[in-house]
Amino acid sequence: METAKLEHSVAALLPQQDKEEAVNILRAAAAAPARADENMLLEQLFPELDSSTAQELEKIREKLRKEISSIVLNPGASKERLQKLRAEMTAEQVDGFIIPLNDEFHGEAAPAAAERLKWLTGFTGSAGVAAVLKDKAAIFVDGRYTLQVQNEVDTSLFTPRHVSEEPMSAWLAENMSAGETLAVDPWLHTENNMAALKKTTTSIGVELTSVPENLIDRVWEDRPLAPLALVQPQEERFSGESSASKRNRIAAKLAEKKTDAIIHTLPDVVAWLLNLRGADLPCTPFALGFAITHQDATVDLFMDEIKFAPTMREHLGNMIRLHAPEEFEQALQSLSGKKVQIDPAVTSQYIVDQLIKAKAEISRAEDLCLLPKATKNAIEVEGSRRAHIRDGAAVAKFLHWMSVNAPVGTVDELSAEAKLRSFRESGENFRDLSFNTISGAGPNGAIVHYRASEASNRPLEPGSLYLVDSGAQYLDGTTDITRTIAIGEPSAEMRNRFTLVLKGHIALATAIFPKGTTGSQLDTLARAPLWSAGLDYDHGTGHGVGSYLSVHEGPQRISKAPSAVALVPGMIISNEPGYYKTGAYGIRIENLVTVQERPQPEGAERVTYGFETLTFAPIDKTLIEKNLLTDSEIAWLNSYHFEVREKLEPQVEGETADWLRQATAPL
Ligand code: ZN
Ligand code: ZN
Repeated sequence: METAKLEHSVAALLPQQDKEEAVNILRAAAAAPARADENMLLEQLFPELDSSTAQELEKIREKLRKEISSIVLNPGASKERLQKLRAEMTAEQVDGFIIPLNDEFHGEAAPAAAERLKWLTGFTGSAGVAAVLKDKAAIFVDGRYTLQVQNEVDTSLFTPRHVSEEPMSAWLAENMSAGETLAVDPWLHTENNMAALKKTTTSIGVELTSVPENLIDRVWEDRPLAPLALVQPQEERFSGESSASKRNRIAAKLAEKKTDAIIHTLPDVVAWLLNLRGADLPCTPFALGFAITHQDATVDLFMDEIKFAPTMREHLGNMIRLHAPEEFEQALQSLSGKKVQIDPAVTSQYIVDQLIKAKAEISRAEDLCLLPKATKNAIEVEGSRRAHIRDGAAVAKFLHWMSVNAPVGTVDELSAEAKLRSFRESGENFRDLSFNTISGAGPNGAIVHYRASEASNRPLEPGSLYLVDSGAQYLDGTTDITRTIAIGEPSAEMRNRFTLVLKGHIALATAIFPKGTTGSQLDTLARAPLWSAGLDYDHGTGHGVGSYLSVHEGPQRISKAPSAVALVPGMIISNEPGYYKTGAYGIRIENLVTVQERPQPEGAERVTYGFETLTFAPIDKTLIEKNLLTDSEIAWLNSYHFEVREKLEPQVEGETADWLRQATAPL
């Protein structure tokens, strides 16, 4: 929408407002994702609105939102965009430029304004990086995206390469010569990442240099604004601990480490520490902004004030100083001579450079908030239990709906996904999904990070398996559940594999382990039944999950990769073994669990922990080969299903309740 036209319609709707400001608000609001409570922002910024004007503004915002996606993703423009970028490289006198997928927060998602890789290449995957030289360019993706990249990207402009088998370092060595200059935007590379790049460039005699402004931003004329979404307090009835108490805990650790300040760059850390939630990104209630905690337990927070709900000002109190994002740089410089902690794995080189310039003493370690954030308090665990019952009811309604509709042949991946979402949306405290639903029929179920599209959409056919991995964000908790169901009659092989996966799931769910045990020590339990059949799966078994925060959080995990982080009571983690037969079907059974201390048996010498399962939804019994289960495994399944019924029955009615009773009847 042209600015003049937009200003004209806004002026007609809001004659009292500053036109330019109102247009910017709408543009920025459109750069934030759609969400259940998003209209609160416009209501707050334009308080006099009548409902018809409000609806008109919402329509404009929707229109702008659609425009943003078509601006960002326009593969047909890649050639022209690449030419413009190369002209900037020439102007800057550099021979190469690197375009990572991430933004300056280095998280799993980035707002539209930071989707530079997508803008340039048309690649829509969740991991990747491009390198552009004067007459060559390449895009590096992992095994999940080697086919997708061929379909999405003009390969005459960008050579697709496998990120680990044909890494960027080798490509740079092949195509750059000594004496040339490779440029980066230091905001988009962490200190660790920059060190690795430096190693590569040094070995080939290339100079690595930082450009003061991203070269793409210079040529991206209609670049979207930073997202504008409301920042709201996360009430103590959900967080279970005041921000003051959390800040005091972190300040005490700083004092212990004789460190003056710590810089928080992770949005979920900032949200946890200050008990706030935003809506800048899809599926995660983040408000993007940096923060600095000082040894006196005060915090400097860098976020646009316009985003704050009136209740937030009071909520922040006088120990948290709110600054405009542009003031961050000045704040870094004012740390001159201080001892400052950063995490080199997630902190931009730009921030490190400022600290070095200010002659601050840098201490490198993982953010002090990570472990306390991962270790949920009793109120957060209780909130998660409640959220899971609501979520389980939505999943049960969906599974019942599927049992009626899928065998008739009227359901496909996209319609199933939409139906499941609609059941969740009606739940109390629902805000958003916690990630893009993986709705995979038949062979698509074997693609671990599958996302159904119009092009890939498959009908659910008799004799196939359907895998659905999904979750939601509720004010009181984040959920993540996978169920695999048989459509019609499953094959003997499908039943065998499903039962092996279930055995692994039960082994982990019932594990009892001494204090100090890490997730990597437990990983084998979930795989052993598959291993003994000569099978395995190529993903981790469990990831940490936040409390109305990120669905993937550290530092704990359950995987083959070594982990030094012991599991402690209060941690929430997934239990998700699977089995995938390429081109045929996929199986995964995922519940979230929380670590809890076990009662000490007579004569016990060690404190022991186990898991409490939080997720409640039926597991498809038609896929179970009963004679492969031991008596205690059957007992676990029956008691799990008994609990599923107890918890979900009050939430469902009529035919769904009848179905639930049958789906949870003892094996
Ligand atoms: Zn999942
Ligand atoms: Zn998961």
